[in-house]
Amino acid sequence: MARRWNCPLCASGINAPERLVRDDVRRYCLPCSVTSGKLVRREMPAQLRKKEARAEARKARNQEARERRRTEREQAATTYPGVLHTYFERWSRLKAWGADMKGLSLTIRRRAGLYSTGHAYWARNAIVVTVGTCLAEGYEVLLHELAHHAGWRRPGGLRFKHHETAFWACLLHAAEEVLGRSIPLEGVADRRVDTAVVAAFTEEVAAGRLPGVAAPLKRATSTPGTWAGRAREARAAAVAPPAPPAAPPSQ
Ligand SMILES: [Zn+2]
Ligand SMILES: [Zn+2]
Repeated sequence: MARRWNCPLCASGINAPERLVRDDVRRYCLPCSVTSGKLVRREMPAQLRKKEARAEARKARNQEARERRRTEREQAATTYPGVLHTYFERWSRLKAWGADMKGLSLTIRRRAGLYSTGHAYWARNAIVVTVGTCLAEGYEVLLHELAHHAGWRRPGGLRFKHHETAFWACLLHAAEEVLGRSIPLEGVADRRVDTAVVAAFTEEVAAGRLPGVAAPLKRATSTPGTWAGRAREARAAAVAPPAPPAAPPSQ
């Protein structure tokens, strides 16, 4: 089928088949080629339009993907466990810590089981929480690990005794500050504080005061940094689990 082949410089057109061999003379505007000193290719308006349509479709697809990613990001930030990043920022500023908690980072990993585990890394200023399906557990473990960092960051922190009286009091006061009410635990200074704080968080989740919706199992995320950075960091962390600090020991 004959197509219009136009010169982009002089706008003169010829009719020629849509398919021409690469060196077909009709592909080129010879007068303009002679004038400019370089071969001037003719363009097919029909093909240009097709190209533009394809570019537009691609743009729309990219836009759609960008919006989908943004929605996913927003959902992740407001559902559990992604929302732990938000609470991490908020809870880092609790008065109960009695310490400056700046510079800490949080990495969230997922596991399929009920329970959550956590690690506080002194040298890396990092917290890693591996969250299970029990939401209250995840919230409590995050607070527990923050309490370890609070201990290290308090004056004379290297002598702070973890999992002892001062530690449990610190965790309990932090939980009370978060919940805005007291947790009756007279003189208890052991793992029962963990249990009581989990129970309190369970009530919070049940009352809808903390996000109770768990996002489907997905790759780990971490703060601070960009989302791309977090994803990179998470991938790196997944390959090589963080080494425990030399001293004091991780908790
Ligand atoms: Zn021309
Ligand atoms: Zn601990």
